[in-house]
Amino acid sequence: MTVFVSSDFDHHEQVIFGSHRESGLRCIVGIHSTVRGPALGGCRMWDYPSEAEALRDVLRLSRGMTYKAAVAGLPYGGGKAVIIGNPRTKKTGALLRAFGKFIDSLGGRYITAEDVGTTVADMDILRKETRFARGFSDGSGNPSPATAYGVFTAIRTAVEHKLGRRDLTGIKVAVQGIGNVGLTLCQYLAEAGAELFVTDVQPEAVDEVVRSFGATAITTDEIYAVDADVFAPCALGAVINDHTIEQLRASIVAGAANNQLSEARHGEELWRRGILYAPDYVANAGGVIDVANEESGFSQKKVLKIVEGIGPTLKQIFVRADTDKTPTCVVADRLAEERLSQGHGAMIAA
Ligand code: NAD
Repeated sequence: MTVFVSSDFDHHEQVIFGSHRESGLRCIVGIHSTVRGPALGGCRMWDYPSEAEALRDVLRLSRGMTYKAAVAGLPYGGGKAVIIGNPRTKKTGALLRAFGKFIDSLGGRYITAEDVGTTVADMDILRKETRFARGFSDGSGNPSPATAYGVFTAIRTAVEHKLGRRDLTGIKVAVQGIGNVGLTLCQYLAEAGAELFVTDVQPEAVDEVVRSFGATAITTDEIYAVDADVFAPCALGAVINDHTIEQLRASIVAGAANNQLSEARHGEELWRRGILYAPDYVANAGGVIDVANEESGFSQKKVLKIVEGIGPTLKQIFVRADTDKTPTCVVADRLAEERLSQGHGAMIAA
């Protein structure tokens, strides 16, 4: 297995493997950058088919967190952790406590939080072993509502830029994935008067949105081809690819999913086709903004006000993309890299 030369590695500062025989813990922490502050990023627990897959995932996600925190203007770097194993069958209190001790041994260079396969209740357990966890039940809790609000803000900004409309009344939005983020996003959109088209692999999730918000149910295969203004991917990564891009009828792509572009060239292809892409890590930064502000003790209302900053940031990216005739995904990367090159020095005492 090659690591240092792989494109996912991208100059990670540190990659640490951890294990604990008694609890069965096997984990990898990727610390991509601490230039702007301690590396902040969730812990994903997943039944990876191989260690190579787990390593690839942690590297990709950790690098993404560096860019996400930098563009969001947070005094944090980027990191991520993966625990190898099925969370439904392998996650025990002992395993979580062993993981907490492992995180603590890193001395604050990495701060963990909830992600796929881990919960707010898990963070409460980690807290018993380390100061370097965030997102507790008596703190910022589940970051999904803040993420949904950020995506809603991103959609409003993109609609205004692309369609010249300041309100969402009658704007058609195709939402893929009605999970934690997708459901709250649908609620915001419905309240704003948008017309919803929704899909999920779980029919009951779709039924709820159809019932509550008058959404139209769409099959998972047909969601890309819906005659909508906005396509909002809120389920999986790599959904913008050679196969789906041909089907897209929306003129805006803005959603919560991480790593929406299968490859960077798909961002360029969206641009070439005149489809405005709100770069994923800019649009979905609400959750990390929420977690990063936990220690400040801000109210949810104040955090959502900060999350609204995603709007002006995106606007800046859209305008620069137009001016420089450059895809939005490239402009967002440049913005992040500019902020990283400036460093920050504002190390937060964790
Ligand atoms: P979730 O697991 O609660 O919801 C995902 C939903 O997508 C589920 O209902 C699932 O059934 C559905 N789904 C899975 N495969 C599908 C398919 N092929 N077609 C349609 N639906 C499908 O996850 P979430 O917390 O809502 O997050 C959604 C996405 O946003 C994920 O990619 C996540 O990584 C990303 N994200 C989430 C947050 C957050 O705060 N939760 C923050 C940043 C990014």
